[in-house]
Amino acid sequence: MVLDDLGSSLRDTMDTLRGKSRLDEADVEEVVREIQRSLLSADVDVGLVMELSDSIETRALEEEPPGGTTARDHVLKIVYEEMVGLIGESTELPLQEQTILLAGLQGSGKTTSAAKMAWWFSKKGLRPAVIQTDTFRPGAYDQAKQMTEDAEVQFYGDPDADDPVQIARDGLEATSDAEVHIVDTAGRHALEDDLIAEIEEIDSVVDPDRSLLVLDAAIGQGAKDQAQRFEESIGIDGVVITKLDGTAKGGGALTAVNETGSSIAFLGTGETVQDIERFEPNGFISRLLG
Ligand code: GDP
Repeated sequence: MVLDDLGSSLRDTMDTLRGKSRLDEADVEEVVREIQRSLLSADVDVGLVMELSDSIETRALEEEPPGGTTARDHVLKIVYEEMVGLIGESTELPLQEQTILLAGLQGSGKTTSAAKMAWWFSKKGLRPAVIQTDTFRPGAYDQAKQMTEDAEVQFYGDPDADDPVQIARDGLEATSDAEVHIVDTAGRHALEDDLIAEIEEIDSVVDPDRSLLVLDAAIGQGAKDQAQRFEESIGIDGVVITKLDGTAKGGGALTAVNETGSSIAFLGTGETVQDIERFEPNGFISRLLG
């Protein structure tokens, strides 16, 4: 992380440390306060912010900067390390045959992300297929069909069927020559029992290598309940944060990462199939602190 990546007030605070070889308590408090301010306004859960600031404070005061390191660089390194500790590295996604199941509430961006991920895998040289099992949301089939056409990837769905579990089963069979299967599922407006029952059934038929929870960047504390329910029912291996092209910074999704003991896999940055980025901690940390 470089200073330029930080928000202006945090950068100013860091700049006041220029030339110092030791930090005193007041310096550290000021840095920690700026970090707290940035993270809270990025929707990071207050408990996580407190944990993080405690560790930064303790380390910044206790650890001696290694020889030749200025106090400012030392504290910057600690901030970065602690942030990576909280956010984690990106979810491991080996470029090999695999089945990925997407979970999340309606409107979170699952269908869009399914097509985007398929596009991403196809650019990596793998043959992906999207299986659309969302029989709940009107238009989900057409949307998935259109987006997978845009992505030039294989698609399976059945607009006349009403059993998502059967669609999943048929879809896997119909696309058996694909290397990466991405199974889109129906959401609901809220966490309803039938949603959980349905995705558990799909999970048992699909037997995914990875289940990813799709969350809108604007999600605040609602991330906690969703993460807990999906984690208990199907197990969550990673998070996809969508709509990061808007004003929301996606800090709420860190609650889900924390609750599920998982990590972030992808970021959605727009409405077209190419608007996807593999998560990497540096850029995301800068965004949260920016
Ligand atoms: P689903 O109900 O979870 O399948 O959600 P959709 O994939 O249909 O997405 C809901 C809405 O969010 C659609 O209008 C998408 O175009 C939009 N959307 C999804 N991902 C992104 C994104 O990364 N950026 C923007 N701006 N819009 C997105």
